[in-house]
Amino acid sequence: MDFDYDLFVIGAGSGGLAASKRAASYGARVAIAEGEDVGGTCVVRGCVPKKLLVYGSKFSHLYDDAVGYGWKAVKSKFSWPILITNVQKEVHRLSQIHTDLLAKANVELIPQRATLIDPHTVQVGDRQIKAAKILIAVGGEAIKPEIPGIGLSITSREMFLLPKQPKTLVVLGAGYISVEFSGIMQGLGTEVTHLVRGERPLRGFDQDIQDGVYEGMLNHGIKMVPNIELQELKRTKKGIKVIYTQAGELQKLTVDAVLCAIGRAPNVMDLGLEQAGVNLNTNGRFPAIAVDEWSRTNQPHIFAVGDCTDRVNLTPVAIAEGRAFADSEFGNQPRTISHENIASAVFSQPEAASVGLSQAQAESRYGADNVKVYRAKFRPMYHSFTGKPEKVMVKLVLEAHSEKVLGVHMVGDQAAEIIQGMAIAVKMGATKRDFDATIGIHPSTAEEFVTLR
Ligand code: FAD
Repeated sequence: MDFDYDLFVIGAGSGGLAASKRAASYGARVAIAEGEDVGGTCVVRGCVPKKLLVYGSKFSHLYDDAVGYGWKAVKSKFSWPILITNVQKEVHRLSQIHTDLLAKANVELIPQRATLIDPHTVQVGDRQIKAAKILIAVGGEAIKPEIPGIGLSITSREMFLLPKQPKTLVVLGAGYISVEFSGIMQGLGTEVTHLVRGERPLRGFDQDIQDGVYEGMLNHGIKMVPNIELQELKRTKKGIKVIYTQAGELQKLTVDAVLCAIGRAPNVMDLGLEQAGVNLNTNGRFPAIAVDEWSRTNQPHIFAVGDCTDRVNLTPVAIAEGRAFADSEFGNQPRTISHENIASAVFSQPEAASVGLSQAQAESRYGADNVKVYRAKFRPMYHSFTGKPEKVMVKLVLEAHSEKVLGVHMVGDQAAEIIQGMAIAVKMGATKRDFDATIGIHPSTAEEFVTLR
């Protein structure tokens, strides 16, 4: 069979960009199709604009904190249009850089949606393109619950484009994205009510992270409403009426906007997977493209990486999977990546980050008697003069016998920056003794990790 390309990549997000450039560096003829802006979720409507909003939202706290340090209180005014315009400018600048990098790497960009029409053919606009190998890297999209009026809510995608700052906001969800947006909007001056179906957000994270972030959100003035069941959204003259039940009682609340952040599902619809004979994994939360450790689907020449496979849905993971695929298939260096001990952060306020097993995961894997925990919760020195009840939590989860560190967890300022370093130690199999033999940096929050008793 004659092929137009050695590799055709569907989706120019984190995974697709990394894989296409790496494959082209080995001399492969590569094309990549993208239906929206180059860069994907992370660059255009995820990690990057989100982190910029987090930075923007922290100034209100800093103004308050400064007073205890002797600065005169200021009444500064925040402009939502300026922040949103600057964020969008930055997103477009980065998207253009990624487009230029593709050209530099000799990857042909086809700026259109692609669908599979048979195992080796992709339809892009009116072109039918044949490729020896195909990589699906189409990511995921926010989902919404099926209740009347849900169309009145927005997702994180639209949050970055809102022309006007909502004065009042309901955030629905329990995952990290919901928690991050609550913190952002509260910091920017919006009155936030966060509705959670369960007890509290961040299920799956260590219980001390869940508790620490929850307390922090309450301290910051976010109204947390647990154990709710959403019933309906209605447009009224005063805004959007959110109707939900809590402990069987019907509750109502009217706000300017409703952010739905209840989860994300792989983009597997309308992709032509059936025509190409690609199987889905239906055992998880959502149907996802089924792959093995090599990111190979049931079709030996079709691969998938990133969020569309619903393994660990983070940018660095999609990039690592994409590069491992390209090295294996085009660089003659077969390798897989490990999905164990991947550090991750929640850019909540206070921030949280983790690597390795939570206490609950460690206890279920090794048995409660074989797990040892060291934990400290304290007021950070920074808050000595701010009068705020802000707390830091640091925690080590160990295998009791060997004292090998199985998990490191933190709630507090700069948790992401600190846990990134801890991840190397965990990856290397460090023990509590190794932590104890490390001399701390004083005065710092991170030194608590090497002085835990
Ligand atoms: P994506 O980056 O989503 O890229 C997929 C691309 O495929 C998209 O550009 C899409 O337009 C395109 N596409 C889809 N279908 C087609 C088609 N048929 N034809 C052509 N193109 C198509 N991760 C972190 O690590 N840290 C964070 O702080 C973080 N924050 C986040 C915040 C938010 C609000 C969100 C939504 C996500 C965040 N993530 C974060 C997750 C991260 O963005 C994803 O894990 C990552 O982008 C996945 O990369 P991917 O390549 O699998 O998919």
